[in-house]
Amino acid sequence: MIEVSGLKKRFHDVEILKGIDLQVNQGETVVVIGPSGSGKTTLLRCINLLEIPTSGTIRVSDSEIHFNPDTKVRIKEIIPFRRNSGMVFQGYNLFPHMTVIQNVMEGLITVLKWPKQKALERATQMLSKVGLSDKLDAYPHQLSGGQQQRVGIARAMAMNPHVILFDEPTSALDPELVGEVLTVIKNLADEGMTMVVVTHEMGFAREVADRVVFMDGGVIAAEGSPEEIFDNTTNERLRLFLRKLG
Ligand code: ATP
Repeated sequence: MIEVSGLKKRFHDVEILKGIDLQVNQGETVVVIGPSGSGKTTLLRCINLLEIPTSGTIRVSDSEIHFNPDTKVRIKEIIPFRRNSGMVFQGYNLFPHMTVIQNVMEGLITVLKWPKQKALERATQMLSKVGLSDKLDAYPHQLSGGQQQRVGIARAMAMNPHVILFDEPTSALDPELVGEVLTVIKNLADEGMTMVVVTHEMGFAREVADRVVFMDGGVIAAEGSPEEIFDNTTNERLRLFLRKLG
């Protein structure tokens, strides 16, 4: 479903991703952990081409691009990647002047060119799935952070992407609101959605991940089942990272 090989990303003179190989199979939930600055967000942003890789190959579903420093990527090539992968951001990124239902309908109408009634039905269905049927006409500022993030998830799901990429979806939330968002993500995992989740929530990673990837210094330094990563690792950097988290 996702195949990343030899991925490098440089910002100016600094190489942030130093050769990433990662495969995510259909229906799999891969959780990415690692210290701040290790390149987790950059990896996600490269997968749906919010950042253009310096070199390497990215495949999402049936779209594939090989990059090298001279590659000029055309917007026509980028569109299928954006369609195939939904992204949920740390800061929700909802349109403040639109209601909840309008936020979820927006992409269906403007990107997929759906008629309004069909978009309304789909958006209503997605908002029910994340437990927000009673908030359709609310504006984002009238919602808690956890509710706003659930709108963000409904909006991503509405487009029926092949994969969803979550970039620290709970790190902007007050601790008491984290659980409701993690529950929604866990339900999606149970339904067989293909997902990559960057998170600092280790309990959640252990519970939801089919596979955990530990990034350190722009490389994948360890990878395995939650048990292998959290209980049985011999990787010193990983042990140090987990110990620091307590
Ligand atoms: P965190 O857990 O703190 O979110 P991360 O592992 O997600 O960290 P990234 O956000 O991918 O790390 O950032 C990795 C490095 O790349 C950082 O040093 C960051 O400053 C740098 N970086 C990211 N985006 C850009 C950019 N657009 N221009 C220049 N440098 C960038």
